[in-house]
Amino acid sequence: TPGVVIVGGGLAGVRTAEALRRNGYKAPITVVGAERHAPYDRPPLSKQLLLGTVAEDRVTLRTAAELASSRIELRLGLAAVALRREDSTVELSDGSVLPYERLVVATGARARTLPGHERAGVHALRTLDDALAVRAALATAANIVIVGGGFIGAEVASAARARGVPATVIEASANPLSGVLGPLISQACADLHSANGTRVLTDAVVAGFEGDEAVRAVSLADGRLIPADLVVCGVGVEPNVEWLADTGLDIDGGLRCDAAGRADSAGTVYGVGDVARWWHPLLGTANRIEHWAHAVEQAESVATTIAAGEPAELSAVPYVWSDQYGVKIQIVGRPDPGHEVTLVEGSLEQARFLALYTAEGGVRAAVAFGRPRLAARARPLVGRAVPLAEAISELGLATGVTA
Ligand code: FAD
Repeated sequence: TPGVVIVGGGLAGVRTAEALRRNGYKAPITVVGAERHAPYDRPPLSKQLLLGTVAEDRVTLRTAAELASSRIELRLGLAAVALRREDSTVELSDGSVLPYERLVVATGARARTLPGHERAGVHALRTLDDALAVRAALATAANIVIVGGGFIGAEVASAARARGVPATVIEASANPLSGVLGPLISQACADLHSANGTRVLTDAVVAGFEGDEAVRAVSLADGRLIPADLVVCGVGVEPNVEWLADTGLDIDGGLRCDAAGRADSAGTVYGVGDVARWWHPLLGTANRIEHWAHAVEQAESVATTIAAGEPAELSAVPYVWSDQYGVKIQIVGRPDPGHEVTLVEGSLEQARFLALYTAEGGVRAAVAFGRPRLAARARPLVGRAVPLAEAISELGLATGVTA
């Protein structure tokens, strides 16, 4: 038997392979990865690696030898270029053809780019190579301009400030993350930037990059020119699905999967991690959730489904963290600007608090700044959408004040 072929050697791919073995799967497992680096972890790339507190050889998830000891074959520097479902094979970039019995698509996502991105001094931050380039550039940059005030942008700004580099964040909306967190909490994100000396330009849309060879400025749609020695763009990602075109699989906005990760009715093709758009029973929608915890949970679920032959459905509450200026920010569930926000613990001014988001009488999401234990305890409460008063009492807090 050709066993399981996993395309993509990132977190989701490696965790699926290991979980298959843990679940007693005996047939061959092959992981094919386009990058040349051993599988590595991405969260430290925009945090400790940029700060210089973690070296590049410490972000490795597993070496080829470690995987080989679990009889997992790792083939690096090879990309899948086409899928032929009719004969159950994957064509690789070296022209070879790999047969599979089950295929797991774990190709992740790539950074979205803006026109002019190829200019020297303009970077994205998705891969280890990107992070090494940004780290090297930060060492000599007179200043940095960050396009996009999302998680990656905020973490790069935070690392730049820690290294004493003047930083400007250009954000198209009213406040960083305002479309996700709503006005009150996104203001807390903006305040955290200001308190640490990062300039945030809001309602600012990038028109292009100026400079003959290397970037010298970022031009805005309103005509302003923002001088820039180094630019990092954090403007979202695109799922790596092009190699699945014309296969009959639904790849619109990510590989569409059911709640057990199956991309086809036969249970032959699966999707995990950032590339996959799973049906989410709790949310009642299909979503691509680009978070570390989901890649791990989906990998476990797909491995169980394949090894046990019974669909293991997942309905985990979305969870993501971000480290900014020494504050751990955690988001549980899917906050919506339309939710009512109640500060149930701590203070916005001190950037230490727990806020609960409610709709239709139940808690739908939680945002914590510097409150890791409360955030963890809030996750099951969000899963059950408990009433606000019940959540406050289950968390052992005094009555919250509606903000
Ligand atoms: P990836 O990690 O993208 O891995 C996919 C792999 O597949 C890549 O190596 C790619 O080269 C390879 N590949 C692509 N196409 C092909 C092909 N055709 N053939 C073969 N291989 C291919 N999440 C959090 O929850 N908290 C955080 O603090 C956080 N910080 C982050 C910081 C950064 C800088 C980044 C980039 C992400 C961060 N994330 C964070 C998100 C988290 O890292 C991702 O959710 C996770 O990496 C998803 O893993 P994945 O295996 O699905 O995809």
